[in-house]
Amino acid sequence: MARASEEFLALQSGYLFPEVARRIRAWQEKNPGEAVLKLSIGNTTEAITPSISRAMHREIELLSDRSTYTGYGDEQGNTALREALSQHYEKEYGVHLAPSAFFISDGAKSDAANIQSIFSRSSIPAVQDPAYPVYVDSSVAGGHTGLYDEAKAAYNGIVYMPSDAASGFVQSPPSEHADLVYLCFPNNPTGAVATEEQLKAFVDYAHRENAIIIFDSAYSDYISTPGIPHSIYEIEGAEDCAIEIGSFSKNAGFTGVRLGWSIVPEALKCDNAPDGTIHRLWNRRQCTFFNGASNIAQAGGLQALTDEGRRECMSLVSYYKENASIVKRTIDELGMESYGGIDSPYIWLRTPDGMTSWDFFDYLLEKAHVAVTPGSGFGKSGEGYVRISSYGHREDIEKACEALREKLR
Ligand code: PLP
Repeated sequence: MARASEEFLALQSGYLFPEVARRIRAWQEKNPGEAVLKLSIGNTTEAITPSISRAMHREIELLSDRSTYTGYGDEQGNTALREALSQHYEKEYGVHLAPSAFFISDGAKSDAANIQSIFSRSSIPAVQDPAYPVYVDSSVAGGHTGLYDEAKAAYNGIVYMPSDAASGFVQSPPSEHADLVYLCFPNNPTGAVATEEQLKAFVDYAHRENAIIIFDSAYSDYISTPGIPHSIYEIEGAEDCAIEIGSFSKNAGFTGVRLGWSIVPEALKCDNAPDGTIHRLWNRRQCTFFNGASNIAQAGGLQALTDEGRRECMSLVSYYKENASIVKRTIDELGMESYGGIDSPYIWLRTPDGMTSWDFFDYLLEKAHVAVTPGSGFGKSGEGYVRISSYGHREDIEKACEALREKLR
């Protein structure tokens, strides 16, 4: 008889976003005709920019003509796009990475989860707390953890790295051993960024513990503070101990188009096989389970990396960053405590008077008709905070800020 995967069965039900949606629906039923002002979405809202849109249209034209039609491409991605990404890292971050280290994918989420599959099940994961939920869930589904412990509100077998306001929501490496260390900067949900010194501590840890860092840089274009690294490879020695995962979602607006990449250098080391094995296994994994990203999306990605495309992407990023500063100003005017929102689209707001994340969520919805995301949904250390997102049309962000100013003063 077929048996369901024990590892997938060990997953706790995805509670956060369905519960946010359920509470909003219940509120709307009670308040018909009233709009909910959403500061809760992690999804982009502005149009694809002109030259990137044109490049994708052009690709559709090529596909629509028999003489220029192309079918399957390389599983690793188009050579031109891998080369363009390699040049982008060199030009913008001063980092040299061979084009062959870049694997094009349909986005950072799948890579962040799938990367688990090339590591031994005995590998111990370490995750930031709070964190983007994919790292924990894919560790559980990949069989790298024990079962969920209700009393501890945590999975056994995961090294949690809690963060707090005192440390600016940037963790130090754990005191225990871990093999796969997930890091995300600029961070979702806290909006924190890490300095070179803070990242170096993790690279040193990885060398000491023979661990591999999985660095999620999906929001790197939101960094504008000088001196803050955009890529883990800006840290000396990272090439033999770090994988980086990037995305076109939050800078080019490709959340629906779907395009990302992973950097898996040949220099990566592991305990039980020669150097180069991790790179080889990821190549093997992609060739077996993935058939390449859409050629239309890749044409858009290639244009996004030209000078013109970069200007357009950065203006899109500036739009969301301006939204973030409008929200941040509002929160400051209200005298509330918040973090992030400078090098990130997310603002991490402390709940007033020791309210729980969910109580404050309900309070904001009731009082100002504003929806946010409860911090506790991202991990235990997120309790007492909510995440405010700056994704949205400017007019909607302004409306939500006005409601906050009026109702919370
Ligand atoms: N990584 C982080 C930290 C995210 O917040 C998100 C999306 O919200 C993703 C990855 C997903 O990126 P993609 O759209 O490329 O799958």
